[in-house]
Amino acid sequence: SNLVSAYVSEAERDAEVSVRPKRLDEFIAQHRVRDQLDLLLQGAMRRGAPPDHILLSGPPGLGKTTLANIVAAELGTGIRVTSGPAIERSGDLAAILTSLAEGDVLFIDEIHRIARPAEELLYSAMEDFRVDVVVGKGPGATAIPLDVEPFTLVGATTRSGLLTGPMRDRFGFVAHLDFYAPAELEALLRRSARILGVPITDEGAAEIAGRSRGTPRIANRLLRRVRDFAEVRADGVVTVETARAALTVYDVDALGLDRLDRAVLTALVDSFRGGPVGLSTLAVAVGEQPDTVEEVCEPFLVRAGLLARTPRGRVATEAAWHHLGRTPPNGTFG
Ligand code: ADP
Repeated sequence: SNLVSAYVSEAERDAEVSVRPKRLDEFIAQHRVRDQLDLLLQGAMRRGAPPDHILLSGPPGLGKTTLANIVAAELGTGIRVTSGPAIERSGDLAAILTSLAEGDVLFIDEIHRIARPAEELLYSAMEDFRVDVVVGKGPGATAIPLDVEPFTLVGATTRSGLLTGPMRDRFGFVAHLDFYAPAELEALLRRSARILGVPITDEGAAEIAGRSRGTPRIANRLLRRVRDFAEVRADGVVTVETARAALTVYDVDALGLDRLDRAVLTALVDSFRGGPVGLSTLAVAVGEQPDTVEEVCEPFLVRAGLLARTPRGRVATEAAWHHLGRTPPNGTFG
């Protein structure tokens, strides 16, 4: 997988565990979400009841899975982890739900991808802590009502708009995670380096932070690659020089753009004179699904001020032309 993709492989999950914050006060930045979650959890603990169901939305790699685990840790409960695509039949979900212990957290990643029958089963579990399991087929089929222990669902999705209305309505608490500011990623990198036992200068942390696309997962990954370089080709200290040299080797550009980001911008500028161009046309030009372009690339490109979404289509900004080393056409901007 690409070095600056926010998506995670199973192997990388293991590498991530050592630096993953375990408690709310170790979670860097996102102060508003942290504060709101703190109140929600403390309130629930005072009443001795599970908190409302929690929906976390935001691009991959910003800390949704981490927060779900933190919720369970703060509540002192168990956690079951699954994902929308993993729940193929409603029976799979019923089995999970009926095996929960009282107060457990059920984390469903990519909850917007859950199959419709399972989604309907989830509604009644969320609302009434019971599910109807249908046994048999045809006229002889019977619905057996089963109790579910009171639990807290933590759902994660890239955008809350991807959920059906009835699903969204069943979450009492909805939080949106936003990309991290460079200074926040610097703090995160210093924390990770401390845990990994890697000496790092403030300037070294800043250099990595600037290329991390506002994403903790990418910051931690680049830190691991820069550490390799610092240990193999330098004295082991992560400085601005080792960071720059390492990230040049790994072909991560100054803004942290990856192949697909650059392909999208290059297509916009070279094939469509900067746009506007429709999402599906743009997606075809880079050989990707429109969803991938929209969900994976665009959030960061928009945030970085390189791409604009207009009613007439996608447009490359002046900064995008400059970043690609092209001269923007006269009169288009300003
Ligand atoms: P998501 O579920 O949104 O894809 P994760 O929770 O798996 O993201 O986070 C990716 C990695 O980034 C985690 O392993 C964690 O170590 C780190 N991380 C994310 N957010 C924070 C944060 N606020 N503070 C410290 N580390 C973080």
